Amino acid sequence: AAMVKETIRVYARVKPLGRRQQAGSYSVDNEEPLPSLEITVPRDLADGFINNKRESYKFKFQKIFDQEAKQDVIFDSIAKPVAECVLAGYNGTIFAYGQTGSGKTFTITGGAERYSDRGIIPRTLSYIFDQLQKDSSKVYTTHVSYLEIYNECGYDLLDPRHEASRMEDLPKVTIMEDSDQNIHLKNLSLQQATNEEEALNLLFLGDTNRMIAETPMNQASSRSHCIFTIHISSKEPGSATVRRSKLHLVDLAGSERVAKTGIGGHLLTEAKYINLSLHYLEQVIIALAEKNRSHIPYRNSLMTSVLRDSLGGNCMTTMISTLAMDKRNIDESISTCRFAQRVALIKNEAVLNEEIDPRLMIVQLRKEIQDLKDELALVTGKQRTSELSQEELLQLDELIDTFLKDNDPESSLDVGADMRKIKYCFVHMKQVINHPMTSGQKLLSQDISEEKNSNEEVEKLKGLLQQRDNEINILVTMLKKEKKKARDALSQLNGTSAGSTVLEQSPSMSLEESQSPSRSFSLKEEKDFSSSVPRLPLLSRATGGKMSLGCQEAFEVFKRDHADSITIEDNKQLLKQRFDEAKCLGEKLNEVRNKITRLKGKIIQRRIQRAALAVSNPSEELTFDPVEENLRMQIEELKKSYKTVCSRFKGLKVEIEHLQLLMEKVKMKLQKDFEVWWSEEAKKFQQEKPEMVTSPNTAAVYPQFIRSSQHLSPNSSSDTSRDSLYEDPAVKNNSITFGNPTLKTRTPPSSSISIPLTGDSQADADILAFIKARQNILQKKGKSCQ
Ligand code: ADP
Ligand code: MG
Repeated sequence: AAMVKETIRVYARVKPLGRRQQAGSYSVDNEEPLPSLEITVPRDLADGFINNKRESYKFKFQKIFDQEAKQDVIFDSIAKPVAECVLAGYNGTIFAYGQTGSGKTFTITGGAERYSDRGIIPRTLSYIFDQLQKDSSKVYTTHVSYLEIYNECGYDLLDPRHEASRMEDLPKVTIMEDSDQNIHLKNLSLQQATNEEEALNLLFLGDTNRMIAETPMNQASSRSHCIFTIHISSKEPGSATVRRSKLHLVDLAGSERVAKTGIGGHLLTEAKYINLSLHYLEQVIIALAEKNRSHIPYRNSLMTSVLRDSLGGNCMTTMISTLAMDKRNIDESISTCRFAQRVALIKNEAVLNEEIDPRLMIVQLRKEIQDLKDELALVTGKQRTSELSQEELLQLDELIDTFLKDNDPESSLDVGADMRKIKYCFVHMKQVINHPMTSGQKLLSQDISEEKNSNEEVEKLKGLLQQRDNEINILVTMLKKEKKKARDALSQLNGTSAGSTVLEQSPSMSLEESQSPSRSFSLKEEKDFSSSVPRLPLLSRATGGKMSLGCQEAFEVFKRDHADSITIEDNKQLLKQRFDEAKCLGEKLNEVRNKITRLKGKIIQRRIQRAALAVSNPSEELTFDPVEENLRMQIEELKKSYKTVCSRFKGLKVEIEHLQLLMEKVKMKLQKDFEVWWSEEAKKFQQEKPEMVTSPNTAAVYPQFIRSSQHLSPNSSSDTSRDSLYEDPAVKNNSITFGNPTLKTRTPPSSSISIPLTGDSQADADILAFIKARQNILQKKGKSCQ
């Protein structure tokens, strides 16, 4: 609250002298920095006052209003500033202090004869209502109360029962103090005055009641205090803040001291108040003037209690010292001025009276909430429930997820002007920060309960862990399978193909070898092998040469250790014999064929000779030629011989073909057996030491395979060059027709199994030459037969 710190303003007003009154000696100086009133007391006037020895007294006042000062000036100078403060929300008190007849009532209430004699109360009421009417920014409520205090008893001057009852029979106004030490006055009515007229009527009512109560006997007007209070409350429209202020206009009891002469003729040594209330008022004012005084004796009198919040603390306090300056009252005036000097020392802290009316606040807040809700509904187009729906939560989760994954630093998360959504986002973010592992999980599934939250968290983590475990197991199994597949594929490749010289140099193959289960086996047998046959060049060439060095070595050892190899060798020898025999027969056939050709030529020559003889000797034209007949007989004999040889050759050919098939079968079986053995070995190794098996890089193996295949292709083309090399023009032109047409189809150029094995390159070449020649013969025979 705003505070105004200032001393109590103390003014002086000098009552006009009556016609027969002798003026006392005083002077007023309002020009000095602080106006002063100087009172000169003649020595001879002492008249029993032993303390009145000084000749002149100088008192300082806020302002001194001399006898001619009119009511309007008094109001404007003294009351108006206070009234303005009250209108601004501060409490204010103006009280008139002085001896009886000094003009207190005239100053506060005014004279009854002339309108211009109106005192502070009617002028203040007029001024206040005028101001309230001018200000439409606030809502004002005005009440008045009129309290009379007589013999420490409070009376409500606005109580209508005053007219019919004696003052003593009226209910007493009493002080009630609540737990917050706020003063409440019981039986004091607060009459609402909505305008100046109503308020003035109330003032008139109170003054009338005051007069009725006054009798010449009780001298109520001089011994009682009257407090007219204007209560103003104000608030701005729509605001819950209520400002309350009050202005006490106090007409105090006469300040004259107890009898100037002592009881029983004794002189009084110190001044005594007729009214105890004034004594306590002075005590309070003195206490307020003292620094560091914690206890102020407000409770000592009803008046100080009533004026508690309007004297020392929260108020603008003004005192008008009314002075009667005639010679008989000058000493009382001096006493009044002394009191005024004490009051002037008080420094008050005026505090703006603002308080919150809780009921008003609640009503106002409720209305504000409803207004905002309505506004929101108008803007968003939908009514909002207190909880976010499942759908909304899911949408939010998606928004947050998208936002978190967005790498754009400019990206923003816009959930609209909905505090529930914004709050949810913060909660979600908090969870993401605190539990990054489960940040992907939906917050939606989480409950408000923290404990439940963490339990769910643990369960989720467990589930996730199990899932990952399973995945790893599957991956390991897959890896094993893949490894096995690769290994099997490798084994198959190696098993179905013979090793080539290219592969022997391959580093990746060396690696594969070192990891392969056959390594130790290969190494063990390596020396034996290297000392043996130089790696079956024919076999390797025929089988495509795709076997790795290790595998080839394994195959050789495998072949040697198996019983079938003996059969192969036997068949080899037999085949060689048959080829030799066939070779001899072939030569013999050629010889017979040539003889027949020569004999045919002789017959033709003989016939030409015979024809020439017939021309020269026509008589011998039809005679039989025995020479020709002999030649024919020779040819017939040769033909028989040729047929026999041919028949024998044909038998040989069948036998050779059979032997070749046998050889092929044996070799195929051997390779198959080897493959089985190889894969079984691989499997065994895998089962025994799965952790030792590193997956062979198939990508590294296969390129080697491809390269070796390409490398081998020129070898296969060399067969064709050999074909031309062994081509025999004599055989080519031969007209002899025999042979098995199936042989032609059974010997494709790329065949890898048609060549018998001898281990001797020269013999092999011979066999090839024979086969080729025979093929040619058979082809020609087939053509001539058609
Ligand atoms: P008090 O209330 O202090 O006992 P009053 O206000 O009743 O004294 O004044 C006593 C008489 O003096 C009244 O008749 C009043 O009209 C008159 N009076 C007081 N002050 C003035 C003044 N300033 N101008 C004219 N008359 C005054
Ligand atoms: Mg009076």
